[in-house]
Formats: sequence, structure tokens, C-alpha cells
Amino acid sequence: MSESADVIVVGGGLGGLLVACEVARRGGRPLVLEAGHAAGGVAATIRDSGYLLEPAAGSFLLPHPQLTPILESAGVSVVPANAASHRRFVYDRGTLFELAGPASLATGLVSVRGKLRMLREPWVKPPTNRADESLRSFFERRFGPEMGRIGATLMAHGVFAGDPDRLSAGAAFPAFTELEDKAGSLVRGGVKRMRERPKGVPRPKVHVAPDGMAGLAAELAAHLGANFRSDWPVDQVRRDGDGWKVSSAAGEEWAPSVVIALAPAAAARLVPEPVSALLGEPSAAPVAVVGLGGTSADVPAPAGFGALTGPDSGVRVLGLLFESSYAPGRAPARHRLLKGIYGGAADPSVLALTDGQLVDLAVEEAGRILGVIPQPTWTRVVRHSQGIPQYNVGHLAWVDRLDAATAELSGLHFAGWGYRGIGVSSLAKHASQLGESLTRS
Ligand SMILES: Cc1cc2nc3c(=O)[nH]c(=O)nc-3n(C[C@H](O)[C@H](O)[C@H](O)COP(=O)(O)OP(=O)(O)OC[C@H]3O[C@@H](n4cnc5c(N)ncnc54)[C@H](O)[C@@H]3O)c2cc1C
Repeated sequence: MSESADVIVVGGGLGGLLVACEVARRGGRPLVLEAGHAAGGVAATIRDSGYLLEPAAGSFLLPHPQLTPILESAGVSVVPANAASHRRFVYDRGTLFELAGPASLATGLVSVRGKLRMLREPWVKPPTNRADESLRSFFERRFGPEMGRIGATLMAHGVFAGDPDRLSAGAAFPAFTELEDKAGSLVRGGVKRMRERPKGVPRPKVHVAPDGMAGLAAELAAHLGANFRSDWPVDQVRRDGDGWKVSSAAGEEWAPSVVIALAPAAAARLVPEPVSALLGEPSAAPVAVVGLGGTSADVPAPAGFGALTGPDSGVRVLGLLFESSYAPGRAPARHRLLKGIYGGAADPSVLALTDGQLVDLAVEEAGRILGVIPQPTWTRVVRHSQGIPQYNVGHLAWVDRLDAATAELSGLHFAGWGYRGIGVSSLAKHASQLGESLTRS
């Protein structure tokens, strides 16, 4: 079977699986080689005592133009999140603010002066030449210093566990910079996009995997059948004739194309110079995920998705997610589950705490945010020591340099969350682009 593979995918995390399933959907013959026992990579769902804790991706928006077809063709099961997922909160300056569309303007999260400046966004002229700039600089330019600082912090914390002063607006949140490029303003661009939405296409809604993301990954792997191989840690990828030889202690495989779906630092160990050195450049920020479960009487979890923490929150948690409120099946009946995210680019030192200390910190800070101190009977800490890739200023130029280097090495590609988008939908978008070019005859 493997002899006839036309694309080898190294790494069976969500990134690699989506590429392989998309190649298969388009009629190609992928072969996934995964180092671990199971598919899914960092999205290794924990199931224990009736709790389901997602240590990485836990939800995604559907329908999505590229993700939906891949999941449907693989027969993967997903379910909509509970209605509570619409309710989003921000904790800052000792107060929990609920943000709900235009009504958010009525909250005290931003001062009257800050709101007046924010309302001028549609008339702020875009730059004549777009330069790579930090997320905070971009948001402050558009919405003024107060709202800009808050907005950039929330986006950086919520998606990258990143530092708003270092993340690149264009690399980390291209949808925003594209709105400015196309419509001259985020507000005007957003309204225009809503008006132009094709009729009959439902609005994207939060979805979850009922058996967790590890279950979803297992379904994608099962769809690939014998073309998904676990316990196959690749140690080298090298040019061989007009294709690529992929080797490990488990054996050797050859195909005309190879997609290395590993974060840059891991990919660097497999390929020769000068690409290897290039892959060593980007940074990643380690995080820890803390789960707190207990009875409904002992663990407070408001109806909602969760709370992100602002720049003046005074707490170290980057976000506190109300897991059992928005996602069915994440806690036993009459029990609740909260999930806190710690660390990231701006606070790596918190990871020096022991698991017990992290749990204590999460309990204390959840108490400050929710007004009731949780008394969990089930706790879990998951550390992502390899870290979340950081798309800092310079990332776009780095991707261009990587593209230029690989353009000379026909058939070598990189995929996954280290490159062109960090969430599952971005992985699907890139998988679709790769799938199209790899199956073009
Ligand atoms: C705390 C947190 C919360 C998140 N929340 C969300 C969310 O709500 N929604 C969302 O869309 N995304 C979210 N994400 C991001 C999402 O989880 C990632 O984008 C995605 O899981 C990354 O998948 P990947 O395949 O690129 O990488 P990985 O998961 O790292 O997969 C790489 C795979 O390659 C394998 N491997 C490594 N070395 C080798 C080798 N030499 N040979 C063969 N195989 C190898 C590994 O075992 C692994 O399976 C979150 C991430 C984190 C950390």
C-alpha cells in the first residue's frame, strides 16, 4: 500500500490528519507516519471519572468552507455546543464583564473617553504601506490606546497565550488586517462582510467533538485505515531521486511529495540545512492547562463559554473556560468542570510551580473571577512544554523565506500550527490548499 502512496505526511496530529484526509478526499493516496501510539498530537483528550478535559483544541466553528467538507467526507461526528457558548466574559480590574455584541459598549470595561475614541474607528485612515506591526500597535492605531491595549491583550491571551507587544497582527490575525486592507476599517469591513454573506449559508456556530478531540482524531485516522501508521517516529527526510525518502527505525518509505506536519522545532531535526536552520528560528510559548471539577454545589461555572483576562486583571490565568457550561459531556451529571490556561509568552515563569501549586493558584483565581471559591474534588494539570507557536513580528517574512527555500526542493511541504494559522479551521484551510496542489495532475 505504502509503495503507492503519493504523499507521505509526517505527524498524525490534527494538522497532519487534515492534510491526509483532504488529499484522500481529492483522490490522492496519503500515508501518515505518526511517532506516538495514537492520532491527535497535543489534542490528547483526557477522560477520567466522567470528566472530559481537552488539553488543547476544544471547540471550533462550523460550517467552515474547508473544515466541513473534510470532516463530512471522513464521517466524523461533531455536535453543536450548548446555547451558553454565546456568552463571553472578560475579567479586568476586579470585575467580570459580560460582552454581548453592541451591549458590550454599555459595560464599564472601557472608559467613556475610550469608547468615544473607539467609535471613531471607521474613519481612521489605514497606512499607505502595510508594515508588519505588533497586535497591540495595530489595535491601538485602529481603536485608540485604551481599547487597543485591552483588545490586543484579550486576543493574544485567548488564541496564542501570546504577548500582544510581540505577536504580529498580520500573521496572528490576518482576518483583521485584511479587513483594513480591503475596506479601510474593521467595522466597515465587518458590516460589509455580513451584508455580503450568501443567503442560505448558516452562520458559523461553536461545535465540539462528543468523544473529545482525541476521538475526532481517531475517527480521521480510522478513515485513513492502513494509510495511518502509529509508532513510526521519523528521524530523517531526505531527497531521493525525484521524490523523498522518509526513514525511521521502523523502516523506510518513499513518495514524490512529503508534508512534514510538525511544529518548526521538531521539523528542524528531520531535514537538511539550510531549511533546518530556518526552522529553528520561530519561538513557542509553553502553557499549562488546569482542570477543576466537582459537584455543581462546589464548583461555580456560569452559563457561558468563559472569561478572558484583561491587562489589569491582577491574575495570572490567561483564560478561564466554563467547560461543562458550553460543551455537553465534559463533566458527570450534576458536576461541573472549569479549565484555566497558564503561562504563555508573557508569563512563562508560572510554569515553575508544581502541579499542586498550579491547582491552588487556579482555585484562588477562579474564586476571584467568579466570586465563589471552587472546592474541586477532581483536578488535572497538563503541561505543553513544546509550547504554542508564537507568530511574532517577522513571522510572515519567515514564512516567505521558508517558502523560497522549499520552492527549490520540489515536493517538500510543512503544515500544522507552526506556520499559517493556529486553530483547527486554519489547519483545514491550509490542508485544502496543499490537497489541491498535491493532487493536481
Ligand atoms: C491550550 C490550547 C488550547 C487550544 N484551543 C483550541 C481551540 O479551542 N480551537 C482550535 O481550533 N485550536 C485550539 N488549539 C490549537 C490546536 O490544538 C492545534 O492547532 C492543533 O492541535 C495542532 O495540531 P498539529 O498537528 O499541528 O500539531 P501536533 O498536535 O503537535 O501534532 C504533531 C504530531 O506529530 C507527531 N510527531 C512528532 N515528531 C514526530 C516524528 N519525528 N515522526 C512522526 N511523528 C512525529 C506527534 O506525536 C504529534 O502527533 C489549542 C491549543 C492549545 C495548546
